[in-house]
Amino acid sequence: MAQVAIWTGDPSPDRWPGDLGLPETDPELAAVLAQERQRARRQLSLLASESISGRAAREAEDVVLARRYAEGLPGARLAGGCDHLNTVEEIARRRACALFGAEYANVQPHSGTAALMAAYQALCRPGDTILALDPGCGGHFAHGSPASLAGRLYRFVHYAVRRDTGRIDPDEVQAVARRERPNLLVAGASAYPRAMDFPAFASIAASVGARLLVDMAHLGGLVAAGLHPNPVPWADVVVAATHKTLCGPRGGMVLCRGACARAVDRAVFPGIQGAAQMQSVAAKAVCLLAAAGPEFAAYQRRVVRNAAALAAALTSCGLHLVTGGTDTHLLVVDLRAQGLSGRQAERALAAAGILCNRQPVPFDPLPPVRSSGIRFGTTVVTARGMDQPEMREIAAISAAVLTAAEAGRQACDAVAASAALQVAELAGRFPLPE
Ligand SMILES: *Cc1c(COP(=O)(O)O)cnc(C)c1O
Repeated sequence: MAQVAIWTGDPSPDRWPGDLGLPETDPELAAVLAQERQRARRQLSLLASESISGRAAREAEDVVLARRYAEGLPGARLAGGCDHLNTVEEIARRRACALFGAEYANVQPHSGTAALMAAYQALCRPGDTILALDPGCGGHFAHGSPASLAGRLYRFVHYAVRRDTGRIDPDEVQAVARRERPNLLVAGASAYPRAMDFPAFASIAASVGARLLVDMAHLGGLVAAGLHPNPVPWADVVVAATHKTLCGPRGGMVLCRGACARAVDRAVFPGIQGAAQMQSVAAKAVCLLAAAGPEFAAYQRRVVRNAAALAAALTSCGLHLVTGGTDTHLLVVDLRAQGLSGRQAERALAAAGILCNRQPVPFDPLPPVRSSGIRFGTTVVTARGMDQPEMREIAAISAAVLTAAEAGRQACDAVAASAALQVAELAGRFPLPE
């Protein structure tokens, strides 16, 4: 039978085909990556979920760990030769507990959603009732959207924000809890710009015999820096993402009381995941160390101050913000007065090099794919070194683009093209950390 040639780049038959670099192996993909790198240099990410991880954390995401296979936990691995991996994971767990004052931490979840799914599984049985913030009011898909697996496994019910203030009202949460008798109450959001009152959630949960889960996916860095109340003393389980304001690798973690530790561990593995990604666990350890330091706290203070400056500047340009402002790194612009959908605004701003995402506003008349709002966050632009004057510049450019978008497609294209040059100039003055 004829030999099938699977490797044509090298005539030597005994050379391992993984030996060549990306440009030689895959010029098609290498070119796309080069274009993305170029785009990131010229544009500004105001995507509230994005962050720039530190160089040390990226160095720890090393191939020497990435190629290992480690199922199970330190001391209970299903393979030999894991001593160093165990030490890496123990360091990460110890730092997670110390940073947030938690009794126990599992640092293996591959993402924020994975951490959340594990937490649900640790605390609930299929069919249990879970009360969470309405995804239309800033909650996350994984808080019970019918399209998510969680939405099919559990009976989700939702509380909203107040129509007049856009804020969560503990009395309303209490009333829904009394009516629905949830097994689990969830506090946490993707697009809620205000501080959360965790003691109020804890007392509501206690009053109906529910347990409390806090999803601080967005807030990890702010909590670490002491800029947002820490949920850990109040919640049975807390989940976090490590790649949002915590500025670490892609991933998640679960913090919990000692009493929940075993259930959490089993829910992560073998509940929803296989082997841990040890390169990511190592990078989490580094990011947790960095997040305990004074430079990180000072950076987070600039992030929050910049969000407030951006909010004030957008407001003075005539735009309305959900809740009228922000206490955190993110804000939501309500575009109903402009007659623009979030999708239109997101596209017009992207053409100008300003990246944000469409976002439902509370009680949105439009479906989620269109939405009546956009969400901004200041984590990335602050990491590039921008400060309050630049926030005013971004607000002015954004407002001009949105005004043009109101006037129609053609006006918008011209304004966006000239705005893109302004944005590229601004971005060029504040290079991305390499
Ligand atoms: C981002 C986010 C998640 C999910 O994190 P992924 O890493 O994208 O899976 C979960 N919950 C909330 C509130 C979030 O904002």
